[in-house]
Amino acid sequence: MTSGILEERKNPWLMVRDRQAVAPIQQVIETAMDTSKCLPCGCLHEAVDHLSALDPIVHAMGPTLEDAYELMQPVHYGCLGCRECPPVGILPLADRLAQGTNLTK
Ligand SMILES: [Zn+2]
Ligand SMILES: [Zn+2]
Repeated sequence: MTSGILEERKNPWLMVRDRQAVAPIQQVIETAMDTSKCLPCGCLHEAVDHLSALDPIVHAMGPTLEDAYELMQPVHYGCLGCRECPPVGILPLADRLAQGTNLTK
């Protein structure tokens, strides 16, 4: 179990095209993770919680969501509406990817 995160990073199950499909989602989450004012922002928590409930997305994103949980701070405000906040539009996109054929189940 000690090498869990490393094993996950080189998991051959992560198909390149799956990672390409989730790349836009991954990018907005990583942008918010890099923005300190977003870490206690409710919208980031909601987005990460939503994505974490979608197994195919969790697998395709690798350890990003786990990293987000480690970085995020307790929610202080609903949303600052800042440019770096994850747009709600990524969540329906994630739902479609998770249900569709773009991702290996
Ligand atoms: Zn924000
Ligand atoms: Zn926000």
